[in-house]
Amino acid sequence: APASSTNYIKTIIAEDLKTGKTQEVVTRFPPEPNGYLHIGHAKSICLNFELADEFKGRTHLRFDDTNPLKEDTEYVKSIKEDVQWLGFEWDKLFFASDYFGEMYDRAVVLIKKGKAFVCDLTAEQIRETRGTLTQPGQNSPYRDRSVEENFDLFERMRAGEFKDGEKVLRAKIDMASPNINMRDPVIYRIAHAHHHNTGDKWCIYPMYDFAHPLEDAIEGVTHSICTMEFADHRPLYDWVIEECEMECVPHQYEFGRLNLTNTVMSKRLLKQLVEEKVVDGWDDPRMPTISGLRRKGYTPEAIRDFIRETGVVKTNNSIVEEKMLEHFIREDLKLKALRTMAVLNPLKVVITNYPEGQTELLDAENNPENESMGHRQIPFSREIYIERDDFMEEPVKGYFRLFPGNEVRLKNAYFIKCEEVVKDADGNVTELRCTYDPETKSGSGFTGRKVKGTIHWVEAMQARPAEFRLYEALILDEDMAEGLSFLDNINPNSLETLQGFVESNMSEAKGQDKFQFFRHGYFNVDPKQTTAEKLVFNRIVSLKSSFDA
Ligand code: ATP
Ligand code: MG
Ligand code: MG
Repeated sequence: APASSTNYIKTIIAEDLKTGKTQEVVTRFPPEPNGYLHIGHAKSICLNFELADEFKGRTHLRFDDTNPLKEDTEYVKSIKEDVQWLGFEWDKLFFASDYFGEMYDRAVVLIKKGKAFVCDLTAEQIRETRGTLTQPGQNSPYRDRSVEENFDLFERMRAGEFKDGEKVLRAKIDMASPNINMRDPVIYRIAHAHHHNTGDKWCIYPMYDFAHPLEDAIEGVTHSICTMEFADHRPLYDWVIEECEMECVPHQYEFGRLNLTNTVMSKRLLKQLVEEKVVDGWDDPRMPTISGLRRKGYTPEAIRDFIRETGVVKTNNSIVEEKMLEHFIREDLKLKALRTMAVLNPLKVVITNYPEGQTELLDAENNPENESMGHRQIPFSREIYIERDDFMEEPVKGYFRLFPGNEVRLKNAYFIKCEEVVKDADGNVTELRCTYDPETKSGSGFTGRKVKGTIHWVEAMQARPAEFRLYEALILDEDMAEGLSFLDNINPNSLETLQGFVESNMSEAKGQDKFQFFRHGYFNVDPKQTTAEKLVFNRIVSLKSSFDA
Protein backbone atom coordinates (compact mmCIF):
# COMPACT_ATOMS: atom_id res chain seq x y z
CA ALA A 1 0.00 0.00 0.00
CA PRO A 2 1.27 3.51 -0.69
CA ALA A 3 2.62 5.35 2.33
CA SER A 4 -0.17 7.91 2.00
CA SER A 5 -2.67 5.31 3.18
CA THR A 6 -1.19 5.80 6.66
CA ASN A 7 -2.29 9.45 6.60
CA TYR A 8 -4.23 9.80 9.86
CA ILE A 9 -5.70 13.16 8.84
CA LYS A 10 -7.41 11.46 5.92
CA THR A 11 -9.15 9.09 8.32
CA ILE A 12 -10.37 12.04 10.39
CA ILE A 13 -11.68 13.94 7.37
CA ALA A 14 -13.52 10.88 6.07
CA GLU A 15 -15.16 10.53 9.48
CA ASP A 16 -16.03 14.25 9.69
CA LEU A 17 -17.73 14.09 6.31
CA LYS A 18 -19.60 10.96 7.29
CA THR A 19 -20.94 12.39 10.55
CA GLY A 20 -21.80 15.70 8.89
CA LYS A 21 -19.42 17.65 11.13
CA THR A 22 -17.89 18.86 7.87
CA GLN A 23 -19.90 19.64 4.75
CA GLU A 24 -17.06 20.63 2.48
CA VAL A 25 -13.37 20.22 3.24
CA VAL A 26 -11.43 23.47 3.16
CA THR A 27 -7.66 23.41 3.72
CA ARG A 28 -5.06 26.13 3.31
CA PHE A 29 -1.37 26.48 2.63
CA PRO A 30 -0.24 29.44 4.77
CA PRO A 31 3.33 30.51 3.98
CA GLU A 32 4.87 33.57 5.52
CA PRO A 33 6.32 35.59 2.62
CA ASN A 34 9.74 35.96 4.24
CA GLY A 35 11.73 33.73 1.90
CA TYR A 36 11.46 31.23 -0.94
CA LEU A 37 9.70 27.91 -0.43
CA HIS A 38 11.77 24.80 0.26
CA ILE A 39 11.17 21.07 -0.07
CA GLY A 40 9.70 21.03 3.47
CA HIS A 41 7.00 23.41 2.30
CA ALA A 42 6.35 21.06 -0.61
CA LYS A 43 5.24 18.53 1.96
CA SER A 44 2.72 20.94 3.43
CA ILE A 45 1.55 21.97 -0.05
CA CYS A 46 1.04 18.38 -1.23
CA LEU A 47 -0.75 17.44 1.97
CA ASN A 48 -3.17 20.35 1.94
CA PHE A 49 -3.98 20.27 -1.77
CA GLU A 50 -4.12 16.50 -2.12
CA LEU A 51 -6.33 16.04 0.93
CA ALA A 52 -8.83 18.60 -0.32
CA ASP A 53 -8.70 17.13 -3.83
CA GLU A 54 -9.32 13.65 -2.60
CA PHE A 55 -12.50 14.74 -0.79
CA LYS A 56 -13.58 17.17 -3.52
CA GLY A 57 -12.89 20.13 -1.27
CA ARG A 58 -10.98 23.37 -1.74
CA THR A 59 -7.59 24.77 -0.79
CA HIS A 60 -6.67 28.39 -0.19
CA LEU A 61 -3.29 29.95 -0.64
CA ARG A 62 -2.93 32.36 2.22
CA PHE A 63 0.03 34.63 2.79
CA ASP A 64 0.53 34.69 6.51
CA ASP A 65 1.93 38.19 6.40
CA THR A 66 1.40 39.45 9.92
CA ASN A 67 5.05 40.29 10.63
CA PRO A 68 5.97 43.45 8.72
CA LEU A 69 9.66 43.25 9.51
CA LYS A 70 10.64 40.28 7.36
CA GLU A 71 8.17 40.20 4.51
CA ASP A 72 8.53 41.19 0.91
CA THR A 73 6.53 41.09 -2.35
CA GLU A 74 9.43 39.34 -4.13
CA TYR A 75 8.66 36.35 -1.91
CA VAL A 76 4.92 36.56 -2.63
CA LYS A 77 5.67 36.25 -6.33
CA SER A 78 8.06 33.33 -5.99
CA ILE A 79 5.72 31.43 -3.67
CA LYS A 80 2.83 31.65 -6.14
CA GLU A 81 5.08 30.49 -8.94
CA ASP A 82 6.38 27.53 -6.94
CA VAL A 83 2.95 26.31 -5.84
CA GLN A 84 1.71 26.40 -9.43
CA TRP A 85 4.82 24.73 -10.75
CA LEU A 86 4.32 21.89 -8.27
CA GLY A 87 1.02 21.36 -10.04
CA PHE A 88 -1.54 22.89 -7.70
CA GLU A 89 -4.23 25.50 -8.22
CA TRP A 90 -5.54 27.36 -5.22
CA ASP A 91 -9.24 28.00 -5.00
CA LYS A 92 -8.78 31.48 -3.48
CA LEU A 93 -5.83 33.69 -2.66
CA PHE A 94 -5.75 35.59 0.62
CA PHE A 95 -3.47 37.87 2.59
CA ALA A 96 -3.79 37.58 6.36
CA SER A 97 -3.01 41.30 6.54
CA ASP A 98 -6.40 41.95 4.91
CA TYR A 99 -7.92 40.78 8.19
CA PHE A 100 -6.06 43.22 10.46
CA GLY A 101 -9.30 45.15 10.98
CA GLU A 102 -11.27 42.09 11.98
CA MET A 103 -8.44 40.83 14.18
CA TYR A 104 -8.41 44.13 16.00
CA ASP A 105 -12.18 43.87 16.55
CA ARG A 106 -11.80 40.36 17.91
CA ALA A 107 -9.11 41.52 20.30
CA VAL A 108 -11.59 44.13 21.50
CA VAL A 109 -14.15 41.32 22.04
CA LEU A 110 -11.61 39.67 24.36
CA ILE A 111 -10.90 42.93 26.20
CA LYS A 112 -14.61 43.59 26.73
CA LYS A 113 -15.04 40.10 28.20
CA GLY A 114 -12.12 40.65 30.54
CA LYS A 115 -10.12 38.02 28.62
CA ALA A 116 -7.27 40.26 27.53
CA PHE A 117 -5.23 43.02 29.17
CA VAL A 118 -2.64 45.58 28.23
CA CYS A 119 0.67 44.77 29.93
CA ASP A 120 3.58 47.16 30.45
CA LEU A 121 6.18 44.53 31.29
CA THR A 122 9.14 44.33 28.93
CA ALA A 123 9.65 41.28 26.73
CA GLU A 124 12.41 40.22 29.09
CA GLN A 125 10.22 40.59 32.20
CA ILE A 126 7.47 38.61 30.54
CA ARG A 127 9.91 35.82 29.77
CA GLU A 128 11.23 35.85 33.34
CA THR A 129 7.78 35.65 34.92
CA ARG A 130 6.49 32.95 32.60
CA GLY A 131 7.70 30.14 34.88
CA THR A 132 9.04 26.75 33.79
CA LEU A 133 7.69 23.27 33.12
CA THR A 134 7.78 22.55 36.86
CA GLN A 135 7.12 26.08 38.16
CA PRO A 136 3.97 28.13 37.58
CA GLY A 137 4.39 31.64 36.23
CA GLN A 138 3.60 34.85 38.09
CA ASN A 139 0.70 37.11 37.35
CA SER A 140 1.58 40.39 35.72
CA PRO A 141 1.05 43.43 37.98
CA TYR A 142 -1.08 44.84 35.10
CA ARG A 143 -3.32 41.80 34.91
CA ASP A 144 -6.18 43.37 36.87
CA ARG A 145 -6.55 46.54 34.85
CA SER A 146 -10.21 47.39 34.28
CA VAL A 147 -11.95 46.68 30.99
CA GLU A 148 -12.22 50.44 30.41
CA GLU A 149 -8.52 51.04 31.00
CA ASN A 150 -7.53 48.11 28.78
CA PHE A 151 -9.79 49.30 26.00
CA ASP A 152 -8.45 52.83 26.26
CA LEU A 153 -4.82 51.69 26.25
CA PHE A 154 -5.35 49.30 23.35
CA GLU A 155 -6.94 52.06 21.28
CA ARG A 156 -3.99 54.30 22.10
CA MET A 157 -1.56 51.53 21.16
CA ARG A 158 -3.26 51.46 17.79
CA ALA A 159 -3.18 55.24 17.51
CA GLY A 160 0.60 55.16 17.80
CA GLU A 161 0.94 56.78 21.22
CA PHE A 162 3.53 54.28 22.44
CA LYS A 163 6.93 53.14 21.29
CA ASP A 164 7.81 49.62 20.14
CA GLY A 165 7.94 47.26 23.11
CA GLU A 166 6.37 49.72 25.54
CA LYS A 167 3.10 47.80 25.82
CA VAL A 168 1.59 44.55 24.60
CA LEU A 169 -1.85 43.02 24.68
CA ARG A 170 -1.95 39.67 26.46
CA ALA A 171 -4.66 37.05 26.64
CA LYS A 172 -5.77 36.50 30.23
CA ILE A 173 -5.81 32.73 30.64
CA ASP A 174 -3.89 30.97 33.41
CA MET A 175 -0.35 31.64 34.64
CA ALA A 176 -0.36 28.26 36.40
CA SER A 177 -1.36 26.24 33.35
CA PRO A 178 0.87 23.19 32.81
CA ASN A 179 0.97 24.35 29.17
CA ILE A 180 3.27 27.35 29.03
CA ASN A 181 1.57 28.59 25.86
CA MET A 182 -1.53 29.24 27.95
CA ARG A 183 0.26 31.49 30.47
CA ASP A 184 -1.17 34.83 29.38
CA PRO A 185 0.43 34.79 25.92
CA VAL A 186 1.14 38.06 24.10
CA ILE A 187 -1.38 38.49 21.29
CA TYR A 188 -0.57 42.00 20.00
CA ARG A 189 2.65 43.97 19.92
CA ILE A 190 3.65 47.44 18.80
CA ALA A 191 5.86 47.71 15.70
CA HIS A 192 6.21 51.04 13.93
CA ALA A 193 7.08 49.37 10.67
CA HIS A 194 5.98 49.65 7.07
CA HIS A 195 3.98 46.66 5.91
CA HIS A 196 4.23 45.40 2.31
CA ASN A 197 0.42 45.28 2.02
CA THR A 198 -1.07 47.70 4.54
CA GLY A 199 1.69 50.30 4.41
CA ASP A 200 1.68 52.51 7.50
CA LYS A 201 -1.94 51.93 8.40
CA TRP A 202 -1.05 49.82 11.42
CA CYS A 203 1.55 50.11 14.11
CA ILE A 204 0.27 47.17 16.14
CA TYR A 205 0.46 43.66 14.76
CA PRO A 206 -1.11 40.37 15.97
CA MET A 207 1.10 37.51 17.12
CA TYR A 208 1.02 34.20 15.24
CA ASP A 209 -0.89 32.28 17.92
CA PHE A 210 -3.68 34.84 17.89
CA ALA A 211 -3.73 35.57 14.17
CA HIS A 212 -3.54 32.06 12.76
CA PRO A 213 -6.73 30.59 14.25
CA LEU A 214 -8.63 33.76 13.32
CA GLU A 215 -7.36 33.57 9.74
CA ASP A 216 -8.51 29.97 9.49
CA ALA A 217 -11.91 30.78 10.96
CA ILE A 218 -12.47 33.88 8.80
CA GLU A 219 -11.82 31.81 5.67
CA GLY A 220 -13.96 28.89 6.72
CA VAL A 221 -11.04 26.47 6.85
CA THR A 222 -12.21 23.13 8.27
CA HIS A 223 -8.94 21.23 8.71
CA SER A 224 -5.94 23.34 9.61
CA ILE A 225 -2.81 21.29 9.09
CA CYS A 226 0.49 22.34 10.58
CA THR A 227 3.79 20.89 11.76
CA MET A 228 4.36 19.10 15.06
CA GLU A 229 5.98 21.98 16.90
CA PHE A 230 2.52 23.55 17.08
CA ALA A 231 0.92 20.61 18.89
CA ASP A 232 1.42 22.39 22.23
CA HIS A 233 -0.21 25.49 20.79
CA ARG A 234 -3.45 23.67 19.92
CA PRO A 235 -5.19 24.49 23.25
CA LEU A 236 -4.47 28.17 22.60
CA TYR A 237 -5.72 27.82 19.02
CA ASP A 238 -9.00 26.42 20.34
CA TRP A 239 -9.18 29.06 23.08
CA VAL A 240 -8.85 31.93 20.57
CA ILE A 241 -11.55 30.48 18.31
CA GLU A 242 -13.92 30.03 21.21
CA GLU A 243 -13.29 33.24 23.17
CA CYS A 244 -13.29 35.41 20.05
CA GLU A 245 -16.68 33.87 19.26
CA MET A 246 -15.82 32.81 15.75
CA GLU A 247 -18.67 31.28 13.81
CA CYS A 248 -16.58 28.76 11.94
CA VAL A 249 -14.68 26.34 14.16
CA PRO A 250 -11.65 24.96 12.39
CA HIS A 251 -9.52 22.24 13.94
CA GLN A 252 -5.77 21.94 13.96
CA TYR A 253 -3.94 18.71 13.06
CA GLU A 254 -0.22 18.19 13.14
CA PHE A 255 2.27 16.20 11.07
CA GLY A 256 6.04 15.74 11.30
CA ARG A 257 8.29 18.25 9.58
CA LEU A 258 10.30 17.02 6.66
CA ASN A 259 14.04 17.40 6.93
CA LEU A 260 16.77 16.36 4.52
CA THR A 261 20.30 15.28 5.34
CA ASN A 262 23.23 17.56 4.49
CA THR A 263 21.31 20.77 4.09
CA VAL A 264 19.49 23.37 6.13
CA MET A 265 15.77 23.78 5.88
CA SER A 266 14.63 27.02 7.33
CA LYS A 267 14.04 30.21 5.43
CA ARG A 268 16.11 32.11 7.97
CA LEU A 269 19.19 29.96 7.35
CA LEU A 270 18.63 29.74 3.61
CA LYS A 271 18.43 33.51 3.53
CA GLN A 272 21.77 33.66 5.32
CA LEU A 273 23.32 31.48 2.59
CA VAL A 274 22.02 33.89 -0.03
CA GLU A 275 23.02 37.05 1.80
CA GLU A 276 26.51 35.83 2.61
CA LYS A 277 26.91 34.73 -1.01
CA VAL A 278 27.67 31.12 -0.12
CA VAL A 279 25.31 30.34 -2.99
CA ASP A 280 24.32 32.25 -6.07
CA GLY A 281 20.74 33.18 -5.06
CA TRP A 282 17.66 31.42 -3.73
CA ASP A 283 17.45 29.32 -6.89
CA ASP A 284 21.05 28.09 -6.79
CA PRO A 285 20.81 24.39 -7.73
CA ARG A 286 22.45 23.45 -4.41
CA MET A 287 19.62 24.99 -2.44
CA PRO A 288 16.77 22.79 -1.12
CA THR A 289 14.35 25.45 -2.32
CA ILE A 290 11.66 24.57 -4.85
CA SER A 291 13.23 27.05 -7.26
CA GLY A 292 16.71 25.56 -6.68
CA LEU A 293 15.46 22.02 -7.22
CA ARG A 294 13.63 23.15 -10.37
CA ARG A 295 16.75 24.80 -11.73
CA LYS A 296 18.81 21.74 -10.88
CA GLY A 297 16.36 19.74 -12.97
CA TYR A 298 13.91 18.16 -10.57
CA THR A 299 10.40 17.71 -11.92
CA PRO A 300 7.13 18.34 -10.03
CA GLU A 301 6.28 14.65 -10.48
CA ALA A 302 9.49 13.51 -8.80
CA ILE A 303 8.98 15.89 -5.89
CA ARG A 304 5.36 14.84 -5.40
CA ASP A 305 6.26 11.13 -5.53
CA PHE A 306 9.03 11.71 -3.01
CA ILE A 307 6.68 13.55 -0.66
CA ARG A 308 4.13 10.76 -0.91
CA GLU A 309 6.79 8.22 0.00
CA THR A 310 7.73 10.16 3.15
CA GLY A 311 4.20 9.69 4.47
CA VAL A 312 2.27 11.55 7.15
CA VAL A 313 3.59 10.70 10.56
CA LYS A 314 3.23 12.45 13.87
CA THR A 315 6.88 12.36 14.78
CA ASN A 316 9.27 15.22 14.79
CA ASN A 317 12.73 15.44 13.35
CA SER A 318 12.41 12.77 10.71
CA ILE A 319 15.44 13.33 8.53
CA VAL A 320 15.15 11.88 5.08
CA GLU A 321 18.21 11.03 3.01
CA GLU A 322 18.73 13.04 -0.13
CA LYS A 323 19.29 9.71 -1.89
CA MET A 324 15.59 9.06 -1.60
CA LEU A 325 14.78 12.29 -3.45
CA GLU A 326 17.33 11.31 -6.11
CA HIS A 327 15.69 7.95 -6.55
CA PHE A 328 12.45 9.61 -7.62
CA ILE A 329 13.98 11.87 -10.24
CA ARG A 330 15.81 8.91 -11.79
CA GLU A 331 12.52 7.04 -11.89
CA ASP A 332 10.74 9.98 -13.48
CA LEU A 333 13.36 10.64 -16.16
CA LYS A 334 14.32 7.06 -16.97
CA LEU A 335 11.87 6.67 -19.82
CA LYS A 336 11.44 10.35 -20.67
CA ALA A 337 14.95 11.76 -21.10
CA LEU A 338 16.81 11.59 -24.39
CA ARG A 339 20.07 9.66 -23.91
CA THR A 340 22.95 11.35 -25.63
CA MET A 341 26.71 11.65 -25.28
CA ALA A 342 28.60 14.44 -23.58
CA VAL A 343 32.31 14.75 -22.87
CA LEU A 344 32.82 16.65 -19.67
CA ASN A 345 36.60 16.75 -19.59
CA PRO A 346 37.79 16.38 -23.18
CA LEU A 347 40.88 14.79 -24.71
CA LYS A 348 41.28 15.04 -28.48
CA VAL A 349 41.67 11.79 -30.45
CA VAL A 350 42.83 11.76 -34.08
CA ILE A 351 41.90 8.63 -36.01
CA THR A 352 44.84 8.48 -38.36
CA ASN A 353 43.44 5.94 -40.84
CA TYR A 354 40.09 7.73 -41.23
CA PRO A 355 39.93 9.77 -44.46
CA GLU A 356 40.58 13.45 -43.96
CA GLY A 357 37.62 15.75 -44.70
CA GLN A 358 35.10 12.91 -44.51
CA THR A 359 32.11 12.81 -42.16
CA GLU A 360 29.59 10.01 -41.88
CA LEU A 361 26.37 9.76 -39.94
CA LEU A 362 25.89 6.93 -37.48
CA ASP A 363 22.69 5.64 -36.04
CA ALA A 364 22.04 5.95 -32.31
CA GLU A 365 19.08 4.94 -30.17
CA ASN A 366 17.47 7.80 -28.24
CA ASN A 367 16.49 5.68 -25.27
CA PRO A 368 17.16 1.93 -25.28
CA GLU A 369 14.51 1.50 -22.56
CA ASN A 370 11.87 3.38 -24.54
CA GLU A 371 11.64 2.31 -28.22
CA SER A 372 9.08 5.03 -28.95
CA MET A 373 11.71 7.73 -28.59
CA GLY A 374 13.24 6.57 -31.84
CA HIS A 375 16.72 7.07 -33.26
CA ARG A 376 19.01 9.93 -34.20
CA GLN A 377 21.98 10.41 -36.47
CA ILE A 378 25.33 11.43 -35.04
CA PRO A 379 28.35 12.59 -37.04
CA PHE A 380 31.65 10.73 -36.96
CA SER A 381 34.95 11.88 -38.50
CA ARG A 382 38.73 11.79 -38.14
CA GLU A 383 38.74 13.87 -34.95
CA ILE A 384 36.72 13.19 -31.84
CA TYR A 385 36.81 14.01 -28.15
CA ILE A 386 36.82 11.38 -25.46
CA GLU A 387 36.83 11.72 -21.68
CA ARG A 388 40.29 12.29 -20.18
CA ASP A 389 39.45 9.67 -17.56
CA ASP A 390 38.97 7.11 -20.29
CA PHE A 391 42.70 7.07 -21.03
CA MET A 392 45.60 5.96 -18.81
CA GLU A 393 49.13 5.98 -20.08
CA GLU A 394 50.08 3.36 -17.51
CA PRO A 395 46.90 1.42 -16.86
CA VAL A 396 46.23 0.10 -13.38
CA LYS A 397 45.11 -3.49 -12.96
CA GLY A 398 41.57 -4.02 -14.22
CA TYR A 399 41.56 -0.87 -16.40
CA PHE A 400 39.84 -1.79 -19.67
CA ARG A 401 39.51 1.57 -21.31
CA LEU A 402 42.06 3.23 -23.56
CA PHE A 403 45.82 2.82 -23.01
CA PRO A 404 48.71 2.49 -25.44
CA GLY A 405 48.18 -0.60 -27.60
CA ASN A 406 44.65 -1.28 -26.29
CA GLU A 407 41.43 -1.38 -28.24
CA VAL A 408 38.03 -0.14 -27.03
CA ARG A 409 34.55 0.26 -28.47
CA LEU A 410 33.29 3.75 -29.19
CA LYS A 411 29.60 3.75 -28.30
CA ASN A 412 27.47 3.73 -31.50
CA ALA A 413 30.63 3.75 -33.71
CA TYR A 414 33.78 1.64 -34.17
CA PHE A 415 36.59 -0.03 -32.24
CA ILE A 416 39.61 2.22 -31.94
CA LYS A 417 43.13 1.32 -30.86
CA CYS A 418 45.57 3.68 -29.19
CA GLU A 419 48.75 3.91 -31.25
CA GLU A 420 50.52 7.04 -30.02
CA VAL A 421 50.39 9.54 -27.17
CA VAL A 422 51.12 13.20 -27.93
CA LYS A 423 52.39 15.39 -25.06
CA ASP A 424 53.28 19.02 -24.52
CA ALA A 425 56.62 20.30 -23.21
CA ASP A 426 55.52 19.65 -19.61
CA GLY A 427 54.64 16.05 -20.33
CA ASN A 428 50.87 16.54 -20.27
CA VAL A 429 48.91 14.37 -22.67
CA THR A 430 47.34 16.67 -25.27
CA GLU A 431 46.16 14.24 -27.92
CA LEU A 432 45.92 10.56 -28.77
CA ARG A 433 46.55 9.06 -32.18
CA CYS A 434 44.42 6.02 -32.81
CA THR A 435 43.38 3.76 -35.66
CA TYR A 436 39.89 2.47 -36.24
CA ASP A 437 38.70 -0.78 -37.78
CA PRO A 438 35.89 -0.19 -40.35
CA GLU A 439 34.78 -3.84 -39.92
CA THR A 440 33.67 -3.17 -36.34
CA LYS A 441 30.94 -0.62 -37.10
CA SER A 442 28.17 -0.61 -34.54
CA GLY A 443 25.10 -2.47 -35.75
CA SER A 444 27.04 -4.39 -38.41
CA GLY A 445 26.95 -7.61 -36.44
CA PHE A 446 30.74 -7.82 -36.20
CA THR A 447 31.81 -10.76 -34.00
CA GLY A 448 35.45 -11.16 -35.02
CA ARG A 449 36.87 -10.17 -31.65
CA LYS A 450 35.71 -8.71 -28.37
CA VAL A 451 36.82 -5.66 -26.41
CA LYS A 452 36.26 -5.13 -22.70
CA GLY A 453 35.64 -1.40 -22.62
CA THR A 454 33.00 0.83 -24.21
CA ILE A 455 33.53 4.57 -24.01
CA HIS A 456 31.56 7.60 -25.18
CA TRP A 457 32.77 10.42 -27.43
CA VAL A 458 31.66 13.35 -29.54
CA GLU A 459 32.75 14.32 -33.04
CA ALA A 460 35.13 17.30 -32.73
CA MET A 461 34.28 19.52 -35.72
CA GLN A 462 30.58 19.79 -35.01
CA ALA A 463 30.54 19.33 -31.23
CA ARG A 464 28.82 22.08 -29.26
CA PRO A 465 30.79 23.62 -26.42
CA ALA A 466 29.10 23.14 -23.09
CA GLU A 467 29.68 23.85 -19.43
CA PHE A 468 28.84 21.17 -16.92
CA ARG A 469 28.13 21.89 -13.28
CA LEU A 470 28.44 18.97 -10.94
CA TYR A 471 27.02 19.30 -7.46
CA GLU A 472 27.62 17.74 -4.09
CA ALA A 473 25.80 18.32 -0.82
CA LEU A 474 26.04 21.92 0.34
CA ILE A 475 26.59 21.08 3.98
CA LEU A 476 28.92 18.42 5.36
CA ASP A 477 27.67 16.08 8.07
CA GLU A 478 25.65 17.57 10.88
CA ASP A 479 27.89 16.67 13.84
CA MET A 480 29.23 20.04 14.74
CA ALA A 481 31.57 21.05 17.46
CA GLU A 482 30.04 23.43 19.94
CA GLY A 483 30.01 27.05 18.93
CA LEU A 484 30.21 26.32 15.21
CA SER A 485 27.39 27.32 12.91
CA PHE A 486 26.27 25.55 9.75
CA LEU A 487 28.30 28.13 7.85
CA ASP A 488 31.46 26.50 9.22
CA ASN A 489 30.36 23.23 7.68
CA ILE A 490 29.93 24.24 4.07
CA ASN A 491 31.24 21.63 1.65
CA PRO A 492 34.08 23.32 -0.31
CA ASN A 493 33.41 20.93 -3.21
CA SER A 494 29.69 21.54 -3.52
CA LEU A 495 30.18 22.84 -7.07
CA GLU A 496 32.59 21.63 -9.74
CA THR A 497 32.52 23.30 -13.15
CA LEU A 498 33.84 21.56 -16.26
CA GLN A 499 34.19 22.75 -19.87
CA GLY A 500 33.48 20.15 -22.53
CA PHE A 501 31.26 19.24 -25.44
CA VAL A 502 27.90 17.76 -26.32
CA GLU A 503 26.61 16.22 -29.54
CA SER A 504 25.96 18.66 -32.37
CA ASN A 505 22.30 17.70 -32.56
CA MET A 506 21.75 19.43 -29.22
CA SER A 507 21.87 22.95 -30.66
CA GLU A 508 18.11 23.14 -30.22
CA ALA A 509 18.27 22.41 -26.48
CA LYS A 510 16.66 25.08 -24.34
CA GLY A 511 16.39 25.95 -20.66
CA GLN A 512 14.95 23.16 -18.49
CA ASP A 513 15.38 20.43 -21.16
CA LYS A 514 16.59 17.24 -19.53
CA PHE A 515 18.99 14.60 -20.85
CA GLN A 516 20.72 11.50 -19.75
CA PHE A 517 24.36 11.67 -20.74
CA PHE A 518 25.78 8.21 -21.29
CA ARG A 519 27.68 7.11 -18.16
CA HIS A 520 27.35 10.54 -16.49
CA GLY A 521 23.78 10.77 -15.30
CA TYR A 522 20.88 13.16 -15.76
CA PHE A 523 21.41 16.81 -16.64
CA ASN A 524 19.21 19.89 -16.96
CA VAL A 525 19.84 22.84 -19.27
CA ASP A 526 20.34 25.81 -16.94
CA PRO A 527 17.58 28.30 -17.75
CA LYS A 528 19.52 31.34 -16.55
CA GLN A 529 23.06 30.96 -17.76
CA THR A 530 22.76 29.13 -21.06
CA THR A 531 23.63 31.44 -23.97
CA ALA A 532 23.56 31.15 -27.76
CA GLU A 533 27.28 30.31 -27.64
CA LYS A 534 27.34 27.91 -24.77
CA LEU A 535 24.95 25.46 -23.21
CA VAL A 536 25.19 25.20 -19.44
CA PHE A 537 24.13 21.93 -17.85
CA ASN A 538 23.36 21.22 -14.22
CA ARG A 539 23.81 17.64 -13.18
CA ILE A 540 20.59 16.55 -11.50
CA VAL A 541 21.83 13.18 -10.36
CA SER A 542 24.35 10.52 -11.33
CA LEU A 543 23.22 7.15 -12.68
CA LYS A 544 24.06 5.08 -9.63
CA SER A 545 21.42 4.49 -7.06
CA SER A 546 21.90 3.05 -3.65
CA PHE A 547 18.39 3.75 -2.44
CA ASP A 548 15.73 1.08 -2.75
CA ALA A 549 12.21 2.38 -2.55
P1 ATP B 1 10.78 28.03 7.96
O1 ATP B 1 11.29 27.79 9.34
O2 ATP B 1 11.49 27.26 6.92
O3 ATP B 1 10.67 29.48 7.66
P2 ATP B 1 8.02 28.06 8.55
O4 ATP B 1 7.22 26.98 9.16
O5 ATP B 1 8.30 29.27 9.37
O6 ATP B 1 9.33 27.42 7.98
P3 ATP B 1 5.94 29.03 6.88
O7 ATP B 1 6.04 29.97 5.75
O8 ATP B 1 5.26 29.48 8.11
O9 ATP B 1 7.41 28.56 7.20
O10 ATP B 1 5.37 27.65 6.39
C1 ATP B 1 4.17 27.46 5.69
C2 ATP B 1 3.69 26.08 5.97
O11 ATP B 1 4.67 25.11 5.60
C3 ATP B 1 3.41 25.88 7.44
O12 ATP B 1 2.17 25.25 7.59
C4 ATP B 1 4.55 25.02 7.91
O13 ATP B 1 4.16 24.21 8.98
C5 ATP B 1 4.91 24.21 6.66
N1 ATP B 1 6.31 23.81 6.70
C6 ATP B 1 7.39 24.60 6.83
N2 ATP B 1 8.52 23.87 6.88
C7 ATP B 1 8.15 22.57 6.79
C8 ATP B 1 8.86 21.32 6.79
N3 ATP B 1 10.19 21.28 6.89
N4 ATP B 1 8.15 20.19 6.65
C9 ATP B 1 6.82 20.23 6.52
N5 ATP B 1 6.09 21.37 6.53
C10 ATP B 1 6.74 22.53 6.65
MG1 MG C 1 5.72 29.99 10.13
MG1 MG D 1 9.96 30.61 9.72
